[in-house]
Amino acid sequence: MTVWQDDAARDLVFNAGDRFALLTRGAGSYLWDGDDKRYLDFLAGIAVTSLGHSHPVFVEAISKQAATLSHVSNYFATPPQLELAARLKRLAGAGIDGRVYFSNSGAEANEAAFKLARLHGGVERPRILALENGFHGRTMGSLALTAKEAYRVPFEPMPGGVEHIPATLEALEAAMDDRVAAVIVEPIQGEAGVVELPAGYLEAARSLTLKHGALLIIDEIQTGAGRTGAWFGFSHEGITPDAITLAKGIGGGFPIGALVTYGSASALFTPGSHGSTFGGNPLGTAVANAVLAEIESAGLVENAAVRGAQLRERIEDLNSPLINSTRGRGLLIGVVLTQPIAGAIVSAAQERGLIINAANPETIRLAPALNIGDAEIEEFITLFAATLSDVQASLAASESGKVSV
Ligand code: PLP
Repeated sequence: MTVWQDDAARDLVFNAGDRFALLTRGAGSYLWDGDDKRYLDFLAGIAVTSLGHSHPVFVEAISKQAATLSHVSNYFATPPQLELAARLKRLAGAGIDGRVYFSNSGAEANEAAFKLARLHGGVERPRILALENGFHGRTMGSLALTAKEAYRVPFEPMPGGVEHIPATLEALEAAMDDRVAAVIVEPIQGEAGVVELPAGYLEAARSLTLKHGALLIIDEIQTGAGRTGAWFGFSHEGITPDAITLAKGIGGGFPIGALVTYGSASALFTPGSHGSTFGGNPLGTAVANAVLAEIESAGLVENAAVRGAQLRERIEDLNSPLINSTRGRGLLIGVVLTQPIAGAIVSAAQERGLIINAANPETIRLAPALNIGDAEIEEFITLFAATLSDVQASLAASESGKVSV
């Protein structure tokens, strides 16, 4: 083990297992490690660095705001906070009644959404419906919404009332009644392996929740801020939810999250009912304003749609026997494998200087910066094709008894 690996093994909580590399700097879609090895970053910190690394707009916004005002608490309002609230309301179509609560992460945004559901439901509506394979975070409320038992069971008992149902229209229809406070869904289940909802699901969820008086809450933490080729995943469907949660890409690398509420859901929180010391701080909100303004003015939502289609076509054209299909939307892409070897592919890619992610053993997740162009796609295809050949060669060697993958 190298010195940094020793340090990490000794000093960091072992929640993330062994770290893959010690990264020291980044620029655009590239990262460098402590040995100055360069990596093409097609993960973007898990759909976070929307503009790539060290983008001048990000650097200028954070530097200027740090030199002006970084924190005051929520006893006070600040100009970047108000600007970001208005911007998010506009982008999310939240209208005049919309309101924004700022958090520091995705899980915290979902905690706020959970409390919103409780405020709406009261004792009459104790049920909250979430989806099997859904991921909403690791704090206790967001964990209760998260389906995966391996994440939840060691921490039970969970906050009550959450039921995980299959992601089918029939299951939703069967589960809905007037005791449901809220339905929470991701438009694309990113952590589950970039799995889209069935066609028409959000529309049906909207009409069923309206019929039964429940809130429709959409977790846009991974899909928001242009990643899917629209501002939000739900924007593809032409519906209006009661609330959305945001984080990741809106800050482009600065930790910030938000809950945006619509219509009467905006009246549920009252003074003292929720809060956060850091939420909506001037530093984070100034950066998010700059990142979202750049996404808008540079046409990066459209770029995500075009580059996503281009990337999927090029991956499919590789005709690799290791690849079954691709799925997802915009620049949130799942590459579905023919064998459960995603971990081996991720390691081989890293050797080659490419950062990608194994969402599960059968699926590689790609979530590059929204501003990638031809050059990054060409380089990705070259590195990915070489990686797949490396893995195929070691599979062949292991089959002939020489090496194991
Ligand atoms: N919701 C979704 C859909 C996510 O993908 C994630 C993170 O991967 C979260 C919530 C949790 O966000 P955070 O890790 O910022 O707490």
